[in-house]
Amino acid sequence: AASAGPVLEVEALSKHFGGLKAVDEVSFTVTRGGIHALIGPNGSGKTTTLNVLSGLYKPTAGRVRLDGRDITHLPPHARAAAGLGRTFQNIRLFRSMSALENVVIGAERPGNEFAGADRATLQARARAALAFVGLEARAEEPVSAFSYGHQRLIEIARALAGNPSLLLLDEPAAGLNTSEKGALTGLLRRVAAKGVTILIIDHDMTLVSDVANHITVLNFGRRIADGVTATVLREPAVIEAYLGQ
Ligand code: ADP
Repeated sequence: AASAGPVLEVEALSKHFGGLKAVDEVSFTVTRGGIHALIGPNGSGKTTTLNVLSGLYKPTAGRVRLDGRDITHLPPHARAAAGLGRTFQNIRLFRSMSALENVVIGAERPGNEFAGADRATLQARARAALAFVGLEARAEEPVSAFSYGHQRLIEIARALAGNPSLLLLDEPAAGLNTSEKGALTGLLRRVAAKGVTILIIDHDMTLVSDVANHITVLNFGRRIADGVTATVLREPAVIEAYLGQ
């Protein structure tokens, strides 16, 4: 997180599955400190882009830089060590372990300043992350005792405990009710205010237009719009892509 330039630079990224161009020469830049959303109708290439960014898929072509460092060919764990934190569309927590133990795993991320710290330091770090999402009082309870919405918050706390440069959120509002979505919106704003840059992938337009300051829009694997939220959402190509769903 030391670098002053953009957090993430995606250059002419492509991912083809046989003849299908799921992602087709997509470029965008995530500037430091904001909330950037990658949106688009179903099948537009959002998840594929996310999987290429997190290292689960090898790109067919293109380049990805995190904090100025080329991470295009790094495996997922090395990207995490380089400062890429993420949550998953399907929550991935250890359900029988406590919320705190799950978040300690995030604090232990290699490359993080706390990585080699003693148990007490890691636990203090994890507690602070749980406090940040409002769940410190229940730190010792097993994950299985929490509501779905709260489990999403624990996942965010786990990613934050690793002190990432960029937090990738894969459909964080999926399965949340209206009040939980409102709480999530507030939390994401506080994360960004703390200086952690967020890249959010979601098709929930209400959430995206509430929190994102910058939007990149995909349709059929191609970038069709990119810019400041209010401007992008008024672009005819974007409105048409969403109406055409
Ligand atoms: P989104 O997340 O925007 O809904 P996806 O990235 O999941 O879109 O999908 C983009 C396109 O790539 C779709 O046509 C989808 O069917 C296709 N696709 C996604 N993953 C695979 C895969 N593993 N193999 C073949 N085609 C895929």
